[in-house]
Amino acid sequence: MKTKQLMVAAIENGTVIDHIPAEKLFSVVNLLHLDRMKTAVTIGYNLPSQELGTKSIIKMADKFFNDEELNQLAVICPNLTLCIIRDYEIVEKRTVALPDELRGIVKCTNPKCITNNEPMRTHFHAHGPERAALKCHYCNTVIALDDVKLVKKP
Ligand SMILES: [Zn+2]
Repeated sequence: MKTKQLMVAAIENGTVIDHIPAEKLFSVVNLLHLDRMKTAVTIGYNLPSQELGTKSIIKMADKFFNDEELNQLAVICPNLTLCIIRDYEIVEKRTVALPDELRGIVKCTNPKCITNNEPMRTHFHAHGPERAALKCHYCNTVIALDDVKLVKKP
């Protein structure tokens, strides 16, 4: 616990993403385009974790997420912990869970789906008892979260 606090305290303002399963780390790195960030980024890979065995952590100075980015994160990696840091203190800590509905975030895998043929936003619902899948609102295609492709940003 003390170690974690020291690591977090190293940034003045920004966001720490905690509890990233090690195998998801590089998906999250790609999603967030960390290679293009101009501010300090610290990535911890395969750190010991009581709950997960190992986990990974990303610290980003002067980075704060909007709702769309949070939804993308939740799709790639549900149940992350996000810590918002201001003046070296954690001012907010929350779990990023998959929302009930996602609009314009995920691509439908059905080539005949209207969202792949008309200029419109996709719309998915969380699906299944463990919410491990998404269901297209328009064509009912079910996509496992592990297979999800995000809508490319313009
Ligand atoms: Zn569809």
